[in-house]
Amino acid sequence: MLRSKKPKPLAVCNVCHALTDRHDFINNRCHQVVNGKRCYGTFRSALTDLWDECGSCHGVGMVGTQVCGECAGFGWKLYG
Ligand SMILES: [Zn+2]
Ligand SMILES: [Zn+2]
Repeated sequence: MLRSKKPKPLAVCNVCHALTDRHDFINNRCHQVVNGKRCYGTFRSALTDLWDECGSCHGVGMVGTQVCGECAGFGWKLYG
């Protein structure tokens, strides 16, 4: 079964670096909960960021039948 690579995420949180592929999250507050508190960061557009294909899942977001733990299923990681 062939799996296709994921498109690059649209936005990234400036604090916890959570990723999202939803347009409507851009410039909105991050929804991640870290240590029981909602992240205070804001999603900013990641269109100009450099991305690396995830080494564990090779950009597909899945390892076997599991969501890839390294990239949370996005298939991409911020470069650097
Ligand atoms: Zn965040
Ligand atoms: Zn991955």
